[in-house]
Amino acid sequence: MEVIRAKSAGFCWGVERAIDIAAKFASEGKRPVYTDGPLIHNKQMMERLEATGIKEVGDYQSTTEVQVTDEDRANGVLVVRAHGISPERRGYLKDLGMEFKDATCPDVGIIAGKIKMHSRKGFSTVIFGDPKHPEVMGLMGYTENRGHVIKNEEDIRGLPDLGEKVCMVSQSTMFTDEFWRLSEILMESYPDALVFDTICGATKERQSDIHVLKDAGAEAIVVVGGRHSANTRKLAALVEKEHLPAYHVETAAELDFDHLKSRYVKVGVTAGASTPEFLIQEVVEKLQEI
Ligand code: SF4
Repeated sequence: MEVIRAKSAGFCWGVERAIDIAAKFASEGKRPVYTDGPLIHNKQMMERLEATGIKEVGDYQSTTEVQVTDEDRANGVLVVRAHGISPERRGYLKDLGMEFKDATCPDVGIIAGKIKMHSRKGFSTVIFGDPKHPEVMGLMGYTENRGHVIKNEEDIRGLPDLGEKVCMVSQSTMFTDEFWRLSEILMESYPDALVFDTICGATKERQSDIHVLKDAGAEAIVVVGGRHSANTRKLAALVEKEHLPAYHVETAAELDFDHLKSRYVKVGVTAGASTPEFLIQEVVEKLQEI
């Protein structure tokens, strides 16, 4: 089978940076290295990190209490993951008394900065995203209680009166075309709304690479990455939007090789921004063996 791998497949710079920060603390002998929620949304990579002394505490959405001992305070470090957190959570984590390191992706930091700046000037903020995603939950903390999360047109139609000053941003991993479509609907009611396309470059690159794979003749696309990973799920959805069969797998073990062999001679492989290289490589090699 011919396998075409997307150039952008795998870690984005924000994820790589967060992992490097935590790994550096671990290699310097810090114990424990806690991360508030999963450092990245990839189970297999989290297991590898745990073997080096990096341990997840808290929960997926960074809402629960974190228990730390006097020993943790003396020798450990608490790392904020790439998705970022709300200012309230930051204050809470800092008050725990452990060494604190913020590994929020700078691209998420830019979104938070835009919201903060406009909220202070009295703007209401509309965030296009998943209200239950930790990045969005963190960003809502900067809206000074004037934030609203929307996922679709219906949500926009159901918004209360937002006042005269309105701005709109996006979760970093959404579809660009949907963002612009929804921003136009918002502007029907708020023609002066300020709209900021805050979908990150890494997301855009991974999404446009789906078109590259299709143009190169891929008959189906295997998307490697965690089931909790928003950007991986989006990639699989985009493949289907392009009318190609999508196979979202966490590992090569989930692939049905007989099924693929009987249907395709050329497949594409891509992966979410939180998928480690060893998982992508394994999928590519197994497919090439067919
Ligand atoms: S997907 Fe984008 S915003 Fe999220 S960590 Fe990666 S570079 Fe940063």
